[in-house]
Amino acid sequence: MTATDPRTLLAQALHYTDPATGAVTPPIHMASTYARDAEYGLVAGASYSRADNPTYLAVERVIRELDQAAESLVLSSGMAAIACVLETVPTGKRVAAPSVLYHGTMEFLQGLSIHRGVGLDFFEAGDQASLEAAITPGETDLVWIEPIVNPTWAVIDIAQAAEAAHAAGAHLAVDATCTPALTTRPLELGADIAVQSATKYLGGHSDVVAGALSTADAAGPRWTRAKRLRSLAGGVLGPMEAWLLLRGMRTLALRWERACDNALALARHFEGHAALDGVLYPGLQSHPGHAVAARQMTAGFGGMLSLMVKGDFAAAQAVATRTKLILPATSLGGVESLIEHRKAIEPPDSPVPDNLLRLSIGIEAVEDLIADLEQALGLR
Ligand code: PLP
Repeated sequence: MTATDPRTLLAQALHYTDPATGAVTPPIHMASTYARDAEYGLVAGASYSRADNPTYLAVERVIRELDQAAESLVLSSGMAAIACVLETVPTGKRVAAPSVLYHGTMEFLQGLSIHRGVGLDFFEAGDQASLEAAITPGETDLVWIEPIVNPTWAVIDIAQAAEAAHAAGAHLAVDATCTPALTTRPLELGADIAVQSATKYLGGHSDVVAGALSTADAAGPRWTRAKRLRSLAGGVLGPMEAWLLLRGMRTLALRWERACDNALALARHFEGHAALDGVLYPGLQSHPGHAVAARQMTAGFGGMLSLMVKGDFAAAQAVATRTKLILPATSLGGVESLIEHRKAIEPPDSPVPDNLLRLSIGIEAVEDLIADLEQALGLR
């Protein structure tokens, strides 16, 4: 019997047992190369660890099942995964992407435009007409979205984006880092490729940098090229990291549930707060993308939200220096809550507002997190 509920799938990691010893967790294969058998064949498929490593197999199988994908790959970081997909866009073709999105992706796209002659068209996240206007049939090769856009959390309808991309002969790639497949499955909604920084929710403990790719079409030329690029550019995950990633993923369902509950309670508490101009969280009914999020995020709105502090750049940054429990650090999706003044680390031309504080809500007691933010906002 195979688990159909992703919570069971994750906890049991497909009930892996090592055939050699019966161990219930996979061995870590540190080898860089593999000896051949008497017929000069490969013993278990792997020949050299820049192409493949047996430690990947267990984690890639779980990600594939979770994403309901034809094939999944792990890579050395989320950016390695993003790069392998974006590098498949031919010179002279175009990419359509939201004007606000993860800044690493934005910088990579800008590099493709400057150095490789790939055209870029930006659209307003959450505005389908704007997305459609950014796509040119025959010229747009790839539409890139984040279902909730980092760090404003505007919501993009994946199914509508897929329809628009496919109607123009383009593919849709979805960076699902902040919406793991427990809540949203991009491939089921029509996306061609799902990308994740596994450093975040999948790993979940801020102790591993990793990336993942899943495809609906394992035989298609884009996937074949992206897969080859992992090996040619050397974007492979270390075996120790692959093991840590699988270990982290086994508690993803519990961590996700708690982070979603905490973030919703916190967002509700701070909505309308006197020291704030607003709370950006797709789980709030007041959020402009709430209806799409409610349809698309079937098991919680996630742990990411942003607070718009009343005041300027300095006022927002001061709040991020005053929290005592919530760590002022970048990244997201870990068990511990983090706060970040995004504008301080974005490039100078970034459209992210000066007064935006991004929070990654963890699994702590939410009362502690609320009290900490209250004192940091200066009202306690
Ligand atoms: N995508 C999103 C939405 C992110 O937030 C990040 C990192 O913060 C990445 C991709 C890049 O992932 P990594 O840091 O694992 O390379």
